[in-house]
Amino acid sequence: MSRLHIDWTACDGRGVCTELLEEMLVEDDWGYPVARDGQREPVVPPPLEAAAKQAVDRCPMLALRLLRLLRR
Ligand code: SF4
Repeated sequence: MSRLHIDWTACDGRGVCTELLEEMLVEDDWGYPVARDGQREPVVPPPLEAAAKQAVDRCPMLALRLLRLLRR
């Protein structure tokens, strides 16, 4: 499991990630991605891991990162 970190200082708000991860992300009024669940670093559900990796790889501003969650 992982969380999606969005660096809004690097993001240019064009919304590639909101298209690839529409189940998780939505654009705010200015086009910046925000989590649908309101979390700052939303948990990526296992079925969306591949799409999340694709969003990270395709972000033109390198503004996305996946943070691995440690299992206990
Ligand atoms: S793909 Fe990257 S630059 Fe584009 S909106 Fe998403 S986080 Fe911002």
